[in-house]
Amino acid sequence: MTDTALLDAARPAAPANDVPARTPGVARTRAELDAALAMLPGPVGVVMTMGALHDGHAELMRAARRECASLVATIFVNPLQFGANEDLGTYPRTFESDLAICAEAGVDVLFHPGEAEMYPHGRPSTIVTAGPLGDDLEGASRPGHFDGVLTVVLKLLHLTGPQIAYFGEKDYQQLTLIRQMVIDLDLDVRIAPVPTVREPDGLARSSRNRYLSDLERAGALAISRALRAGVNAGPRGGAAVLAAAEATLAAEPGLVVDYVALRDPELGPAPDTGETRLLVAAKAGTTRLIDNLPVLLGIARETARETARN
Ligand code: AMP
Repeated sequence: MTDTALLDAARPAAPANDVPARTPGVARTRAELDAALAMLPGPVGVVMTMGALHDGHAELMRAARRECASLVATIFVNPLQFGANEDLGTYPRTFESDLAICAEAGVDVLFHPGEAEMYPHGRPSTIVTAGPLGDDLEGASRPGHFDGVLTVVLKLLHLTGPQIAYFGEKDYQQLTLIRQMVIDLDLDVRIAPVPTVREPDGLARSSRNRYLSDLERAGALAISRALRAGVNAGPRGGAAVLAAAEATLAAEPGLVVDYVALRDPELGPAPDTGETRLLVAAKAGTTRLIDNLPVLLGIARETARETARN
């Protein structure tokens, strides 16, 4: 379920694409990738992932398939974006089922390099710096994370040369920083955002959900509940949105909340009225989960003023 269909839990999954399922060509080296790319008609779309694919990733691929003549996916668990105490070593690796999902979604070429292929000289001495937003929200708990993300995204954009790159709104801060990088560094690619895909009960799909025990998963549902409570409080203004979300999270003893934040769509300070983004990060057991939704602020008051004027 995507956020655009949040209330339509019973909606059947969209057909993957018109293309019959066919195993993608797998490239493990730059040379193999170059050879495969040379055969592809444009426009080329790319979907970058760390594997352990689920329907959220497949939704990005379906979006790309609808718009692009060719679809390249990448699977690379990027060590640069993991902190010392994070789950790099245990991050799920499920290549065979990933390949099946790529085939179903119509991926033409899957780039699946090893670490030595991506970083042949070890940790690169030149990296992309994410700037102040990179130290905020997720970045406050994960120092250097977004520098690692932007560095690998830039490398993968160079290596795959797409016209359009698809990223999920699930990782909203990442999406925002990638858009900023494309502007700041004059990259010749369009960034296409894709709404978050959820489980029928509202939990945002994530490769890390498989770590959750039944009890932790039940607690994790408070995150999407809190976001929806925030959305519903939107007409009453920003303070009411935060209060509603925080109260929902506080009622769930199984969660340790890292942040609840209301921002403008570019993740600057939230305006008093209009479009905003509500973002939550919390831990269920040892698993860190993030989620977000768009929130429209103050429309009830605006509507009231409109009505009073007319
Ligand atoms: P990851 O493999 O977690 O690095 O994610 C790869 C891409 O899939 C990123 O652009 C994510 O934002 C996107 N993604 C992950 N989960 C979801 C989801 N539930 N809905 C939509 N996109 C997602």
